[in-house]
Amino acid sequence: MNEPAFRIGTFSADVTVPLDHRCMGVLPTKTKFVKDPLEARGFVLLGAEKPIVVVAVDWCEIRNGAYDQWREAVASAAGTSRERVLVTSLHQHDAPVVDAGAAKLLRDVGLPNELYDEAFHAEVLQRVSAAVKDALSKAVPVTHVGTGQGKVEKLASNRRVVREDGRVTFGRGSRSGGDAFMSAAPEGQIDPFVKTISFWNEKTPIAALSVYSIHPMSTYGEGLISADFVGLARRLRQHDLPDVMQIYASGCSGDTTAGKYNDGSDAARHKMTQRLYQGMKQAWETSKTTPLTKMQFRSTPLRLEFYEHGNLEPAKLQATLNDAERRAEDRILAAMGLSSHQRVAADQPIDFPCVDFGAAQLLLFPGESFVGYQLMAQQMRADSFVVSMGYGECWTGYVPLNSSFGDGFHDSWLWVPPGSENRMQQAIQKVLLP
Ligand SMILES: [Zn+2]
Repeated sequence: MNEPAFRIGTFSADVTVPLDHRCMGVLPTKTKFVKDPLEARGFVLLGAEKPIVVVAVDWCEIRNGAYDQWREAVASAAGTSRERVLVTSLHQHDAPVVDAGAAKLLRDVGLPNELYDEAFHAEVLQRVSAAVKDALSKAVPVTHVGTGQGKVEKLASNRRVVREDGRVTFGRGSRSGGDAFMSAAPEGQIDPFVKTISFWNEKTPIAALSVYSIHPMSTYGEGLISADFVGLARRLRQHDLPDVMQIYASGCSGDTTAGKYNDGSDAARHKMTQRLYQGMKQAWETSKTTPLTKMQFRSTPLRLEFYEHGNLEPAKLQATLNDAERRAEDRILAAMGLSSHQRVAADQPIDFPCVDFGAAQLLLFPGESFVGYQLMAQQMRADSFVVSMGYGECWTGYVPLNSSFGDGFHDSWLWVPPGSENRMQQAIQKVLLP
């Protein structure tokens, strides 16, 4: 018998953050209680070329040097190169932001471990690497790829709403559902479908990767650690199908939240979990499988500029970082900005990867790319099944569209300038339409 052309190994590892740990980089309330654990879940694909790894982490963001550390640790465990490791954060907010450059800058001004616990981070990388190695030893043939989508009812809505007087605001956040106007305003631009790519050994499903565009929080800011409604829906699917590794990733979700439907209550969280779960179930039940005959990896360097203006002028960032009178949160944010500025100044581009399975293409976008980007990618390959994950390299913060800048979008979580859309569009084209 011939060696099977492709094989897959799946893995998961606990990445639950310790208590009294910073959340979302800059939230004043640190972790207090573990409601449910945080996980890193993924798979290694083996074939003719070097292995490809996808790993989805229940953390807020992984940036700059830490993004390299994650990819290098996993690449070394899998026997591949770092650009072939697709690391995506789910973006829960009561969870860590990690950035090795920012951590060093903070250490230098006497704020070690303020952004994140570096020893904990190193330990997590060891744990994930061990899980990846274990996955390799248990890899099984993969002969078919499955594709399916399910419509998610009443869950996502866009941050952008138009006020009665015609003014545009991006003020619909994750918990805006308690506000009558925000709850009544139309959903706006969203992608209503959860898309699932699955991997099969003949008739036996091995792994399912589901992706939906939405900020994954029902509530945050009180230091309650949880994988939140997206992680809870994932666990319900895992319970349904114990032998099929369930992986969830957030799509391009910069401007999509549950804001129209969520008021932050436990009841709303339950409802959101159920709605996403139903979409995932439908995506699974309508999945079609196709023989897997190709698995091609393509990547292009994406050079987004650092948005040097106002408070993001490097001299101002340095002054804020050095100022012991300022709040720790302000100094952390300044360190994060400086770290990204240094990376861009050193001309370290973002890797923009695509895995082409023939019947489906899997993309990984940087940071908080707006949902318009995943719709753009789908349109470019309307003949195919394009799945876009967000929150790869996260130093960018929001990646708005030109039209969002035109509508006056601005935020303290924004480090890329107007015009980024053109560079994004070219990158998508390069990997999707080679
Ligand atoms: Zn966000």
